[in-house]
Amino acid sequence: MAAAGIALRLGAIRTRIEAAAAAAGRPRDAVTLVAVSKVQPNDRIDAALAAGQRVYGENRVQEAEGRWRSRCDAVPDLDLRLIGPLQTNKARDAVALFDAIETVDRPKLATALAEAMAKAGRRPDCLIQVNTGEEPQKAGVLPRALDDLVRHAVEACGLPVRGLMCIPPVDEPPALHFALLADMARRHALPVLSMGMSADFETAVRYGATHVRVGTALFGDRLNPAA
Ligand SMILES: *Cc1c(COP(=O)(O)O)cnc(C)c1O
Repeated sequence: MAAAGIALRLGAIRTRIEAAAAAAGRPRDAVTLVAVSKVQPNDRIDAALAAGQRVYGENRVQEAEGRWRSRCDAVPDLDLRLIGPLQTNKARDAVALFDAIETVDRPKLATALAEAMAKAGRRPDCLIQVNTGEEPQKAGVLPRALDDLVRHAVEACGLPVRGLMCIPPVDEPPALHFALLADMARRHALPVLSMGMSADFETAVRYGATHVRVGTALFGDRLNPAA
C-alpha cells in the first residue's frame, strides 16, 4: 500500500479509537494504538513512522531485531512491544530490544526474564498473557493459574508487571473475554490492558483496553497470512 494510504488509515483508526473511548466515557487519550508490524514490508512501516506512529508490536524476536535495530537510532522515542510467544532462550534478546514484553505466561519465563533484566540493567514493562478461552493450542496462562503466576513474577522475580494481555478465541464473541480480562486486571490492581485487534478494537476500548493491537486494518494484508 502507498504511504499516503497508510497515513490515512492511521488517522481513521486513531479517530475510531478516540470515538470509542469517548463513547465509553473514557478520556480520548486513554488508549494507545499498537501498530502490529509483524510480517509487513518495510516501506509500510516507514510510512507509519513518517506519519508519526511510534508504538509497534512484533511477534518474533529475530524478525523484530532485523527490522528495528537499524531504525531505533533514528527514532529514539519508539515503543516496541513483543506480542508473540517467547522462548526462555530468547529472553536476553527480548529484554535488549523491547520496551514491553506482553507475553509472559509461565513461571520459567518470568525467572528467565528477571535474570536477563538483572544482567542487562534494563527493565521492559511486562504483561501477563492470559488464555481466557482456555484453548489448548494457545499461549497464555490459564485464568485459574493467574494468581500464582502474578505472585511468582512480582514477588519472587521482582518483574515490573504492569498488566494483562489476551487473544480471544476466533469463533467466540470477544466481549466476554475482554470483560474477563478487565476483571482480572482490576483484581490485581494492574493498570495496563492489551486487548483488541483489527476486527474488534472498538469493543476492547469499550471494555477498558489501554492498548489495542492493530495490524491488517492499518497496514493491509500480511505478506504471509499464516504468520
Ligand atoms: C497479529 C497479531 C495482532 C494483529 O492482528 P490483526 O488482526 O492483523 O489486527 C494482534 N495481536 C497479536 C498477538 C497478533 O499476533
